Amino acid sequence: MSTHGAAPVLLVEEVTKSHPGGVTALDRVSLRVDAGELIAIVGPSGSGKSTLLHIMGTLDRPTNGSVRVAGNDVHALGDRHLSALRARLLGFVFQHFHLTDGLDATENVATGLLYAGVPRRRRGPLAREALARVGLDHRRSHLPQQLSGGERQRVAIARALVNGPALVLADEPTGALNAANGEAVLRLLVDLNTQGTTIAVITHDRDIAARLPRRVELRDGRITADVTGMVSAA
Ligand code: ADP
Ligand code: MG
Repeated sequence: MSTHGAAPVLLVEEVTKSHPGGVTALDRVSLRVDAGELIAIVGPSGSGKSTLLHIMGTLDRPTNGSVRVAGNDVHALGDRHLSALRARLLGFVFQHFHLTDGLDATENVATGLLYAGVPRRRRGPLAREALARVGLDHRRSHLPQQLSGGERQRVAIARALVNGPALVLADEPTGALNAANGEAVLRLLVDLNTQGTTIAVITHDRDIAARLPRRVELRDGRITADVTGMVSAA
């Protein structure tokens, strides 16, 4: 696999995704994400946000168009190479955390290294380091059911970070949280970006999008706006 220093972290060109029955979930979408960005992908329910996230994350393939992750053409890769690329270059955060019940926080984070070719003895220390980055050093032996929703999402964020990904993709990361926990998770994502992590946050929440430095708006499977610059507080 090639990696070019100058290549954008993500390059989506003219991507269309059609489903059987004639639903066009994405219609000729193009999007470039550079290293260091924090972008919101915002739009109403059904506008194609999750479809775009899955395609950006190589979890799904487009019907037409091309996707490059750190210079690697996804189309050219078979499923095994794609899994390897995902393990090495991407991190995922989902609305409902997707933690494994019987594993403690450290073990859950370490699962983010299972397919990244990291030797077993290195996984624990890296997982603890990632938990420290999200402020959960003191919870590292807790099981998911012993953690609050906000803490569970921070464990999931640590899992997404543990392999040092080129891009973190978060689908409605605050959607299952109360206002205070959602706020803490949003601040954590902003902090991590300030420290250099490239992040795309999918959200239907305009208030969240307004607080991020770039906003891409989706409607009916098309990008209707792509605006960089902070929104001034009303
Ligand atoms: P969002 O995440 O913005 O709510 P989605 O990406 O989930 O939107 O869906 C975009 C459109 O594609 C919707 O009209 C949805 O019903 C349709 N869609 C998504 N997945 C499928 C599928 N597997 N089969 C058929 N239609 C789908
Ligand atoms: Mg969705």
